Order: sequence, then structure tokens, then C-alpha cells
Amino acid sequence: MSVVQRKAMLKAEGFFPHKKNAKGTTIIYSRKHPTAKFVRVVIDSGIDSKTNKVIKNAGVKLCFVNRQKSWREITAEVSTDNKGLVSLIKKVEDSEKFVKTCKHCKAKKFTAKSGNVVCANACWTAWGGKKKSQNTTKKSSQKIVAQKKAATTQKKKSQKVTPKSQRTYPLNKKPQKKPQKKSQKIVAEILPGDLVSVERVELDIFKEDYTGRILGIVMSVDQFGKVNVNWTANTSNLQSWDMPFTNHYNTAHRQVLRFKVLSRSVEWEEAA
Ligand SMILES: [Zn+2]
Repeated sequence: MSVVQRKAMLKAEGFFPHKKNAKGTTIIYSRKHPTAKFVRVVIDSGIDSKTNKVIKNAGVKLCFVNRQKSWREITAEVSTDNKGLVSLIKKVEDSEKFVKTCKHCKAKKFTAKSGNVVCANACWTAWGGKKKSQNTTKKSSQKIVAQKKAATTQKKKSQKVTPKSQRTYPLNKKPQKKPQKKSQKIVAEILPGDLVSVERVELDIFKEDYTGRILGIVMSVDQFGKVNVNWTANTSNLQSWDMPFTNHYNTAHRQVLRFKVLSRSVEWEEAA
């Protein structure tokens, strides 16, 4: 894969190289998001800074630059070769509108190391009044208490993202609790604009992740949960008819291929 071509594409798309990459040897590029304030489109070029050779696909993600000027990853990185790069940039940019926003300070939310989805500004830490921030206006103590409460509830509600190795899917937990129940409807919130891949679960146990081999963008979801996807890449052995097409399935099936949302934190859960 041509380094010259990839660099030319990044330049043409308005990206500039960073001086440093804290996490690896490849050159990181970024530029502003076309519409969203404080959001940057960040690309791991996959070009090694020492050898100037392409060592992997380019990875595209969005970061939110918070008040402390720290960059918070608000979408998962999605990879592509040179051919898919320009269209992937556009898709990742479009996924910005589906990233949740903090209702207190309007910053984007991200998944913290704790697994909680929290405000990129960590604005709740300033509510006690000790830390001053640009946005803090005088608030009655009553209001602060109310907001703190809201923050706690929100934290509890947030979806947790555990490392892949430790993941137990909701399905795994059920059998001992309700052995009489034969099957269960499992649903996930799939939204237009989501970047999706596919994952396989067998007898309630996670088996295979197709991230990096299958990529699509959700075009629409109808009232019955039928999901229309524009599949843009598939280097796996799955055929088009194998691809998932609903936001729900039933555990009565031995094996299930289901959506994996890459652009947001989305969990499959038992239907209420
Ligand atoms: Zn906030």
C-alpha cells in the first residue's frame, strides 16, 4: 500500500501530522470536525514514523477536546485501507451527532476507564464549587445537590464497557436465575448513522468479533426493529444473507450473528 498515496489523501482531506504519538510509532493526523465544536477527527495513519512505511490500515475516530485540553475518545477507532479512507472519514464525522452530550455543560460524553459513560469535561467535579471552571455560574446549593443526585443516577444508568476478555453477555447470567424460561428476547439500541460490524454468539456465549473485516453504516431502523445497513466492507467468510438485519433476536437460536456498534457504547440486553 502506497505511503505517498495515503499521505496525499490525508493532506487533501485537510489533515496535519502530529509531532508525537504517545501510544505507538505511527504518525497521528488530525483536523477539526467540520461542524461540531471542540471535536477533532483523529487518524492513526498506520505509517511508521521511523521507516516511513505503511505498517497497518489507517484508523479513524473522533476526540473531544475538553476544558483541560485533554483529548477524549468519543467514538471507537475504525480501520480502513487507502480505498475506503475518504468515505470512512465522512462516515465517522457523521457519527458525531449520535454521540451523547452532557446536559449540564454540553460537552460530549465518553467511556471512562471505569466503564462509565461520562461528561468529557468531568463537569460534575466542579459542582461542589471548589474547582473553578469557565462555565460555572452561581448556583443555589439546592440546585447543586439536585445536579449531584442527577449525576449519580446517570452514572449508575450508564452502560458499562468491560474488557473483551471479561465480557459476560446478559444471556450468560440468566439460566441459573430462571431455568424454566426457554427463550428470551434480546435487544440493542441501533440508530441511523451507527457504524456497525458483526459479532457471533453461540449458546449465549460470545464467540467471534468481525470488527476489521466487516463494516457498515446503519441507514434506517423501522418500527419493527428491522435495520437497513449499507455494508461498505466485508473481507470475512460471511455472505450478504448472513448479515444481521434486526435490532433483536431470540435466545432460542443456537447461534446468532448480531450487530456490534462501533461508534457508540451499545449493549445487548434482555427486552423488558
Ligand atoms: Zn458536563
